[in-house]
This record gives sequence, structure tokens and C-alpha cells, in this order.
Amino acid sequence: MKRSFALKNCARHINLRSLSTSVPRHGPQVCVIGSGPAGFYVTQHIIKTLPDAKVDIYEKLPVPFGLVRFGVAPDHPEVKNVINSFTKTAQNPRVRFVGNVSLGKDMSLKDLQELYHAVVLTYGAAQDKTFGIPGEDLENILSARRFVGWYNGQPGDEKLNPDLSVDTVAVLGQGNVALDVARVLLAPIDQLKSFDITQHALEALSESRVKRVLLIGRRGPLQAAFTIKEAREMVKLENCKTVFRLEDFKGVKEFMPNVSRPRKRLIELLTQTAMEPKLELVEAWKKAERSFEPIFYRNPVAFLPSVSTPGKVGAVKLAVTKLNGEMSETQSVINTNEFEELKCGLALRSIGYKAFAADPDIPFDPKQGIIKNSQGRVEGLPGVYCGGWVGTGPVGVIVNTMGNAFELGRVIEGDIKDGTLNSNIRKPGFEEAAKILDNKGVQVVSFKDWEKIDSEEQNRGKPSGKPREKITKVSEMLNIAGN
Ligand code: FAD
Ligand code: NAP
Repeated sequence: MKRSFALKNCARHINLRSLSTSVPRHGPQVCVIGSGPAGFYVTQHIIKTLPDAKVDIYEKLPVPFGLVRFGVAPDHPEVKNVINSFTKTAQNPRVRFVGNVSLGKDMSLKDLQELYHAVVLTYGAAQDKTFGIPGEDLENILSARRFVGWYNGQPGDEKLNPDLSVDTVAVLGQGNVALDVARVLLAPIDQLKSFDITQHALEALSESRVKRVLLIGRRGPLQAAFTIKEAREMVKLENCKTVFRLEDFKGVKEFMPNVSRPRKRLIELLTQTAMEPKLELVEAWKKAERSFEPIFYRNPVAFLPSVSTPGKVGAVKLAVTKLNGEMSETQSVINTNEFEELKCGLALRSIGYKAFAADPDIPFDPKQGIIKNSQGRVEGLPGVYCGGWVGTGPVGVIVNTMGNAFELGRVIEGDIKDGTLNSNIRKPGFEEAAKILDNKGVQVVSFKDWEKIDSEEQNRGKPSGKPREKITKVSEMLNIAGN
């Protein structure tokens, strides 16, 4: 099977090679590693501002778009519209999508430096932070990252099997990822089933017995990491009541005049919902069978086993925290000597994603969790750049990532135009990369191949009225791509 793929590939590569000899490839050869928003936006800037540049986008998976495909919540389909502009970019004759090729496995950084004038690392942050506290390896303690992957069809997460036969889920962390997973757990199944959500997740969620989701954060309402749109969705969620602890709001109302404008509406929403909820909400909540319970000022210190099933999580032990210093939106907290234990049958750790060095030659700052760089120029490696979450850390929405990637594009453009980066020496780019990959028997997935996978997914989604049914196995994706 592998051999026949390699042969088919070989044919494709021969075509590409003959194409590239008939059209001389002058100008800067750039490779971008990772096809998420950062990769696509930096590519857009380069092809727009450097008319003779060519960009090859290498992607670990056979499918493009990174967290737009595998992160963004199914019930936020409008966010995925950026895919339309990324598709146009990928279809530009000066751009080539090279799917199923992983930096650090199929190609090394050294290989790419040899082949391209500029190497741009935009491979995201695909690991998760852990607490490092006792009991963290108990069963049914999962990362939100993998739970998201499970409902969004990330290869490798399809068998996660979260046990949803439990009454209470503790989500640890209060960012927007935490709200996404809380919403997916609490939303009526009818509100999810027409979206791009995996069938295995829909089936498990439709049999879920989860009644309560606790959203636990170490700081207070003033410092909450989630944003207003996502908080409002939770408050208005059908058949679900939002329950705050009134004591968490001590002093918040009084501080309101000092709250910065962007956060004001969020804090108003939280205080109003906690202290004087609108009548229509109170009425709707009387009938609600599920509850969403944000809990502030609590920091996990241990996970405790279930009494009936000792291998499984049964509770989370939390230190009560208190704010340190003067009240502000950026205030930190310290643990006190008081503790609280909260029962839960499933715990989802949602305290952020984590980047890593995909290749041993990448200088990485483990403390900040980013590639060492200055304005996107990777430290000690001329011609190597980084952007998006692997360069900034795993924070920010797509618009922030776009801003960072455009800024990086300007840096690369400047370096090429002012000669800092010498693009006059001929570099072979994909011509040579194809040979290396052929030799390793790697099946390269082109953008046209991805379009075959895309169309198959859309067809599979039709019977259930979904925009697509994602294929979750890489081998199946490769089969479709290779046919
Ligand atoms: P990514 O999107 O992660 O892209 C990185 C790409 O690199 C991936 O395709 C990956 O497969 C590839 N890659 C990884 N390793 C390698 C390798 N070794 N070789 C080759 N390729 C590799 N923002 C919003 O605006 N709205 C939302 O609703 C929203 N929802 C989100 C939900 C979740 C769960 C998460 C985690 C984030 C969400 N965001 C949202 C934020 C948004 O997704 C990020 O800002 C953005 O995706 C970061 O882009 P990136 O290109 O840096 O990383
Ligand atoms: P995040 O916004 O940084 O939130 C992380 C949460 O984890 C915070 O509550 C943080 O608390 C907590 N935390 C971190 N380390 C901790 C520790 N050691 N102990 C206890 N708590 C800890 O991260 P995220 O939710 O993963 O989201 C990542 C980015 O993607 C964000 O910018 C987010 O807005 C974006 N995103 C957007 C959407 C959307 O637009 N709908 C959806 C999902 C994600 P502290 O604040 O106290 O540090």
C-alpha cells in the first residue's frame, strides 16, 4: 500500500519537477511550516508584497487550517469563514500546499534552510499545560485540548472516550476554551447536531448524564479570561441555569467605575447575572435541568480518587485564593491555607496550550513557551522566522494572530527588499524537497488532494444535515487523497 502511494507520488513529483523546469523559478523561495491562520496570513502578505516570491506551506496533517478546523467550536461556524480567504491563497499559482509533511519528522530545519531563502515557523502550540499536582493522572481527567479534538475530529482524539455518565464536570480554567467545552457539554443536543461536530461526539453527548458544569478559576470575576460574547451565550443557554457564588462579587460593583472600557460590559453582565438577574432569565432558569456554575478564587492543589472507583477522579481539592495587592483587572492571587473539595466525575483541564521545539535546532524558551525570537526573527538563525502561537504563546483570537502574522510578513518583506536576506543565490525549494520526501516514501498531499477530502467530508455530512462529517483517520484521508 505504502509503495503504491510512493509510486503515485513519485509520478506527481515528476510532473511538478518538469513543471518547475519549464517555468524558471526566480525570486525568493519561502517555506511556511504550519497551515493555520498564522501560516496563511503570513503567506498572504508575502505573495502580495513580493511579486516574484513563491511560498510552499508545509503541514503535518493531510488537511489544512489548523485550529480553525480543529479548535473553533462547532456552533461558531461563522468564525470558520476565514477558510474561504485561505483557500484563495492556497489556489494562487505562487503558493503550494504540501500536506502530510511534518517538520522534525519528515523534514529537518537544516534541510529547509538549505532549500529555501526563508523558513517561517508557524506551527502553533499543540500540547497542553498541566498543573503538576497529585492525582492528575487519575482516569477521566482530560485536557480540554483533547476534548476539543474529540468533538472536532482531530486525528488521534477520536478514541478519547470521555465518561459522560457523570453528574458533575469540573472545568479548570476560565478562558474561552473552558467556555467552549462547558457550552458543548451543557447545550441541548438539538443545538449542536446540525454543525460540524463529529458523529462519535454527538452520540456520546446525546446520552450524557451531565447536569452541572463547574467552571473553576484561581482569580476573581474582574480578572476572568473569557470574553463577553462567550459569557452571554452561557447565561442564555437553553435549559441551563447560571449559578454564581455571591461572595465572589464582593467589592466588584464598587470597583466598576475603574474598569477599563473593553471589560466593562463583561463585568456588568457577570454582576448583573449574579446579583440581579433579569426576570425572563429567572423564569427560564426555574425549569432548567442543567447548571453552569462559575467559581472564582479557587486554585486546584490535588485531584482525589472516587470512593466507589478509586482509579477514577472523584473530586478536586482547591486552595482558596485571595487577591494580592490593590484591586485591578490584572491582579494576581495567592493561595491561603483554606481548602475546599468539590465532587466531580470528569475533570477537564483548560489552563492553556503549550508550544514546543518541533526540531532540535530550534532555539526554544521553555519558560515563556515560545521560540526565541525578536520581532519574529528566530534567535541565532538568519533566514528563519516564527509567528502565530509558536512565536507569541498560545493567546489571542484569529484577528490577533492575523495582526502578528502580517507584522511578521512585513519583517520578512523588509529583510528581502533591503538585502538582509540574500535571495539572489538560487535555492531549489520544493524541487529538492520532493526528492527528499520521495526517498522517505512520504505521500505528499497537494491542495487539490485536500479538495478531494473536503468534498468527501461534505458528502458524508449531507444525510445528517451537517456541513461535513470529518474524516478522523490520517490513513483514510491519504487513501482519498491518493485516489
Ligand atoms: P494553529 O491554528 O494551531 O496552526 C498551526 C498549524 O501547524 C496546524 O495546522 C498544525 O497541524 C501545523 N503543525 C504543527 N506541527 C507541525 C509540524 N511539525 N510540521 C508541520 N506542520 C505542523 N479564535 C477566534 O477568533 N475565534 C474562535 O472561536 C476561536 N476558537 C478557538 C478554540 C480553541 C479550542 C482554540 C485553542 C483556539 C481558538 N481560537 C479562536 C484562537 C485561534 O484558533 C488561534 O488564534 C489561531 O488558530 C492560532 O493560529 P496559528 O497558526 O498560530 O496556530
Ligand atoms: P486563556 O484565555 O489564557 O485562559 C487560560 C485559563 O487558565 C485562565 O483562566 C488562567 O487563569 C488559567 N490558568 C492558567 N494557568 C493556570 C494554573 N497554573 N493554575 C490555575 N489556572 C491557570 O487560554 P485558553 O482558554 O486556552 O484560550 C487561548 C486563546 O484562544 C485565548 O486568547 C482565547 O480568547 C482564544 N479562544 C477564543 C475563543 C473564541 O473567540 N470564542 C474560543 C477559544 C479560545 P489566569 O487568568 O489566572 O492566568
